[in-house]
Amino acid sequence: MKGSEQLFKKAQRYIPGGVNSPVRAFRAVGGTPLFIQRAQGARIWDVDDNEYIDYVASWGPMILGHAHPQVVQALQRAVERGTSYGAPTALEVELAALIVEAIPSVESVRMVNSGTEAVMSAIRLARGWTKRDKVIKFEGCYHGHSDGLLVKAGSGATTFGQPDSPGVPADYARNTLLAPFNDLDAVTGLVKDNPGQIACIVVEPVAGNMGVITPQEGFLEGLRKVCDQEGICLIFDEVITGFRVGWSGAQGLYGVTPDLTCLGKIIGGGLPVGAFGGRREIMENLAPAGGVYQAGTLAGNPLAMTAGIETLKLLKEAGVYEHLEEKAAYLCTEAEKVAHSSKTSTYCTRVGSMFCTFFTPGPVVDYDSAKQSDIDAFRRYFWALLKGGIYVAPSQFEAGFLSLAHTDEDIEKTLAALHGAFQAAS
Ligand SMILES: *Cc1c(COP(=O)(O)O)cnc(C)c1O
Repeated sequence: MKGSEQLFKKAQRYIPGGVNSPVRAFRAVGGTPLFIQRAQGARIWDVDDNEYIDYVASWGPMILGHAHPQVVQALQRAVERGTSYGAPTALEVELAALIVEAIPSVESVRMVNSGTEAVMSAIRLARGWTKRDKVIKFEGCYHGHSDGLLVKAGSGATTFGQPDSPGVPADYARNTLLAPFNDLDAVTGLVKDNPGQIACIVVEPVAGNMGVITPQEGFLEGLRKVCDQEGICLIFDEVITGFRVGWSGAQGLYGVTPDLTCLGKIIGGGLPVGAFGGRREIMENLAPAGGVYQAGTLAGNPLAMTAGIETLKLLKEAGVYEHLEEKAAYLCTEAEKVAHSSKTSTYCTRVGSMFCTFFTPGPVVDYDSAKQSDIDAFRRYFWALLKGGIYVAPSQFEAGFLSLAHTDEDIEKTLAALHGAFQAAS
């Protein structure tokens, strides 16, 4: 830890809180964050040369594992051709075509630089298209840090117990209406109380920023129905779930079709990226085809496009998601057995290769039930795992991610470490 401690001290001198994204600072678990020097496959190494099996996966993007040789090679070739032109390239067209092929509801897609931008822009588009102002979001769902969406936003905000950020004008947040996740009645109530005023409902189809919470039977279908009845734009924020829970994302898995879809994380293969897309009729409202303005100096960046294309090409191969499902099911089933053999109360959730262990008997179905978790138990579990060479997100309210690079041996080593970690938690 010596190297990390020294770097963290220095970082705090030059960077607010010593980090460039809040949850990285380990405040929820205490202690010093690991400073990472390199990663390969399912492993990462900190600056003190400690090796860990990684379940953070850069918060989701690294579904192939780190530094996949095919991605690295393509990037090496791409960087020699220049890193940005600010002009159209064949790469953008190729990635867009791959996304359109994978996700049937997306007929046309605009690239941006982050998930935050993707959701912010999709909401502007939905407002421009419907000529309405109000947005319904769900408590504990995170859609990036744009002003109107930092209201009960889960993730870092949940960890810090500050769902509303200072610096967000009350006027901005006023157009954001909140409902509990999985609560269809609350949504229909809001729609009734604001007739003809709701532009869009934005939802993570599998909530991944308050731990992992699955949509209950009928919830997503119900949202689709309300939107159809009231002319509301349904936006799925699939920044985590896109290409994670299946080749066609959560919408493919649950068979519910949104009007707009937001992507990020995996489609950049570990480089900064985001995208939003949907029906052509809606997307054509975007500048320069239409009047809704949106732009980006580095949007469609050739390096990000290259990493994204190589990642999606590998994910498209036959059997990839079946393989991930099988491995993740084994890991989580066995982990649950380990948890039950200790005295700890836990509630385990999983969709494909994203999962969470809540330190509460559960059931966890929304933000309030997620917050019942025993944070101190999680902290003890986290540090025991880290000492055992297993790196999970330093917060109860984050997802764990399995990659294609995790071997059977990695999983057995993880299960062995979990024995001690659940004992430590209890
Ligand atoms: C990560 C995330 C975002 C924000 O993406 P950034 O690239 O961090 O801006 C938005 N929505 C969801 C569901 C996310 O998980």
